[in-house]
Amino acid sequence: MRYGYQDKLLRVDLSTGGISTEPLADEMVDKFIGGRGFVAKLLFDELPRGIDAYDEKNLFIAATGPLSGHFLPASGKTHFGAKSPATGGYADSNMGGHFGPALKYAGYDLLVLTGKAAEPSYLFIDDDQVEIRPAKAYWGQGALIAEKNLKTDLGEDLQIMTIGPAGERLVRYACLSHDFGRQAGRSGVGAVLGSKNIKAIAVRGTKSLPVHDIDNAYAKGVDAFKKVAAKPGYTEWTPEGTAGITNWVNEVGVFPTRNFKTSFSDHYEAINGNAILKKLKITDKGCYCCPTPCGKYGLAKTKLGDAYVEGPEYETIALFGGNCELKTIEEVAYANYLCDELGIDTISAGAVISWTIECFEKGMLSEGDIGRPVKFADLETVDYLLRKIVNREGIGDLLAEGVKKAAGKVGQGSEDFAIHVKGLEWTGYECRNAPSMMLAYMTADIGAHHARAWVLGHDMAGAWTNVNELVQSGGTVERQPPAQVTADSARYVIDSQHTRPLFDALGVCRLQLMELGFEVENYAELIYLITGKKRSWKEMLGVSERIWNLTRSISAREIKGFGRSWDFPPERFSTEPIPSGPNEGYFIPKQKLEQLLDWYYAARGWDANGIPTRETLVRLGLEDVADALSVEGVQIN
Ligand code: SF4
Repeated sequence: MRYGYQDKLLRVDLSTGGISTEPLADEMVDKFIGGRGFVAKLLFDELPRGIDAYDEKNLFIAATGPLSGHFLPASGKTHFGAKSPATGGYADSNMGGHFGPALKYAGYDLLVLTGKAAEPSYLFIDDDQVEIRPAKAYWGQGALIAEKNLKTDLGEDLQIMTIGPAGERLVRYACLSHDFGRQAGRSGVGAVLGSKNIKAIAVRGTKSLPVHDIDNAYAKGVDAFKKVAAKPGYTEWTPEGTAGITNWVNEVGVFPTRNFKTSFSDHYEAINGNAILKKLKITDKGCYCCPTPCGKYGLAKTKLGDAYVEGPEYETIALFGGNCELKTIEEVAYANYLCDELGIDTISAGAVISWTIECFEKGMLSEGDIGRPVKFADLETVDYLLRKIVNREGIGDLLAEGVKKAAGKVGQGSEDFAIHVKGLEWTGYECRNAPSMMLAYMTADIGAHHARAWVLGHDMAGAWTNVNELVQSGGTVERQPPAQVTADSARYVIDSQHTRPLFDALGVCRLQLMELGFEVENYAELIYLITGKKRSWKEMLGVSERIWNLTRSISAREIKGFGRSWDFPPERFSTEPIPSGPNEGYFIPKQKLEQLLDWYYAARGWDANGIPTRETLVRLGLEDVADALSVEGVQIN
């Protein structure tokens, strides 16, 4: 008996209709735990080298972890992976809600889709009954509407994941959608599902989960809920969720504004967490087994219409309220709703739109190119461009390719302010006075993403801490001290890159640890009681390091010429001083970025080109990976 898991991988070949199951390999469970670890292992072993992300041989993987679906706080996370349409390298993205637990109750830890259905289809999983069914009736529908319609047709008790028109039309940052507001947003995993002609996956599960020590696991689960609720941050953090951080981010001058031109917004009070509570919120909404429901479901009334929407959470506020400068929380929420219905990542969409507006302001794109004038702080501009992108109409066809490819076509220096790393658009923190966070973005394995390592606190030690002081200063913003950076900063980033993504392997939400300080030892104890296998937190961090080196190896294998040059931020961050706000005047020169990478690669045991050395791979039990890379022509030192 493999406690904690269902010990079953479900494979569906959409081209042949072949459906099969197999037990999990011992090596995969022992060395990669679950979730993100399973995704990386399967992609390295099974992805045909060098194929296009939209090739039908690409894998679409949904993976749970050993803690997914069990009775403990926030055990509802599911991890999705594929070769990325956005970067061409390793991709994953996680999602809350109830989908992963349902998949596990249906009897599967893992779902792997290959091939391509001959016609628009959806996958139906009801315990042992697995069918590929026609989805013509749902094709073309919005992600939220399709979920509602499928629930009406199949039953309210099914957990349903959908794509929107963006996924159907292969927008490279299309997302997966579930539970009317939860998304796996990053890396274009929704477009991979669309490329397979799959509109939705519907799951009902009624089986039980095998647990090593059920009595003590239950008692520990009860205890864990009590401990989370007793944390001082519980009553402070939960009411506003991630949006509660908006004031602080702006206060310390890292709030992306006007396509990352600057890093401080003067209308932050109209778009922060408090504005959500005052202007939008109807109810809290949480994922499976979550005691800290960070979702805020509400109604936004705007001049373009009313929208019921979950959110916006912080990243959406940053990219639409800061970067596109929408002036009210209602407008940000409306943009959020449109993205959710169209099935597009709010982060990448906000970044692409703000870049387009800057191109227009600079005369690099004309009214003729775009089809109308576009401007910041304008909901109509956002609405117009989102629909163009998702329909791949006119300029939208170019923008649907993502900011890196679009800038490559437009040229004229627009590449300098196309804000991405590796082709994945940057998330909600401006880092020209945050070198550790800059390094975290540069080296995140899927591209510019904050959830791999969030180290702003490290950069901002000594920064403003009282936003009221800032407001009372009447807009006169004092300058931040320069953030300190040493070789230890690289180590700090690396430690964080092992800690945060570990939750994506376990199948639980990390926010209970990160925001509330729920101690890591609890997870080690739960792992033992549920799986019967003793793993210290330190040992699990070692697994996380192994996964990190494997995901880097996948990108090294899949992306021609991959290495150091792929780890740099756009030119803006190393040549343009921030023009206003608390970090006015700061930028990080190229030389400093080179030094940061040198420290980072050395601490990781990677060569000067940022490729793991054979010695490092062997130390991590990845000798087979080193051998395979050598055979496939990747230079391994
Ligand atoms: Fe979901 Fe938020 Fe709870 Fe995490 S904290 S499980 S994201 S509701």
